[in-house]
Amino acid sequence: MKLPRIYSAFALLLFCLSAAQAQVIAIKAGKLVDPDTGTVAANQIILVENGRIKAVGAGLQIPAATTVIDLSNYAILPGLFDAHSHLCQATTADNRDLFTTDIREPTAYRAIIGVVSAREMLESGFTTVRDVGNNGNYADTALRHAIENGLVPGPTMVNAGRIIAPFGGQYHLQPDRPELGNPEYLFADTHDEMIKAIRQNIHFGSLVIKIVVDDQKYIYSVDDIKFIVEEAGKAGLKVAAHCMTEQGARNAALGGVASIEHGFRMSDEALQLAKQHGVVLVGTDFPVRAAEALGLPADFARKFHDIFIDRLKRADKIGVTMAYGTDSFAAVEGETRGTMAISYIDSFVEAGIPAKEILKIMTTNAAQLLGVQKQRGTLKQGMFADIIATPENPLENIQTLKRVSFVMKDGKVLKQPR
Ligand SMILES: [Zn+2]
Repeated sequence: MKLPRIYSAFALLLFCLSAAQAQVIAIKAGKLVDPDTGTVAANQIILVENGRIKAVGAGLQIPAATTVIDLSNYAILPGLFDAHSHLCQATTADNRDLFTTDIREPTAYRAIIGVVSAREMLESGFTTVRDVGNNGNYADTALRHAIENGLVPGPTMVNAGRIIAPFGGQYHLQPDRPELGNPEYLFADTHDEMIKAIRQNIHFGSLVIKIVVDDQKYIYSVDDIKFIVEEAGKAGLKVAAHCMTEQGARNAALGGVASIEHGFRMSDEALQLAKQHGVVLVGTDFPVRAAEALGLPADFARKFHDIFIDRLKRADKIGVTMAYGTDSFAAVEGETRGTMAISYIDSFVEAGIPAKEILKIMTTNAAQLLGVQKQRGTLKQGMFADIIATPENPLENIQTLKRVSFVMKDGKVLKQPR
């Protein structure tokens, strides 16, 4: 049987990529950007071997038979992070309602959505994501395995599996059909149910625990959250807490979670509390267009956006550690998952946050939160070769991140300048 052309092209690509991995690649970096220090080094060479950075420096010897990638006219920086993705979920223009979207689409279809989103995120320069649930019945774990096994291209994933929440999760169920909350959520109201939910998630491949603290009138208490953090911590997992209310965010901060997600109603006092407890804010600061894509009317989307910008400014002023997270799950005409995700930098610009700080929020801060800072997030010897290039220096023009021209993931080239 003759293989369809697209399949054979893909097989060839995979072959080329795996062949490339075995050899040394030298990248000529015109401007090497270090987000950690906010500095640039000119005319550097990065040697990549077996998926990792072998050496970085000016005037390095390029061994014979090395593949040279000339990015002398580009700025080079570590791959970007999205610490709040939902790769296997997508609402569409004809239905923006999450509940009906989630119950209509089986896990197998959700995994296919994930394959598409993962590739689109990579193409926009996101080489690592923390995926925080709403992926059907562990489609995220399946996607992560497929990426790790080289079956499909995608970012490194730290995935949450099913979201653990008080009864009902983020839905408003009706009494005849309470099972419609499955499989998106694991309802856990007692400590026994929390232990069981955490262990089920870990067993089925979760690398982080995501809880919804306060989407119902009954919310997780400080004691509940401490209990979850301790149980997850026994297996080395951190906890991400979705917080919509002031009280929820306070409980999460006092409960010792690793990150507060959204937190858009946090007062200055709640932000101070997060800072004191070393909790990272993953603000999912929606630009207006992304807010509209949630299905909100234009005037409400603008107000919603303004609330995020106000909180973003206050969080920056107070000095809360932040990591970039988008909560991007809506399919939008003319955009990819990646282009929507990168558009969130506009919110940081609007809030007056300097480019240097935005870059840290998108790389080293997020790497620290995900617990991968020893492998990813900087371009130093021994780190995985997650490398991107932009036409301009992002420290001078952060908007250049919307035009990522080159993407290397684990030493494999996924995108080259045209
Ligand atoms: Zn989310």
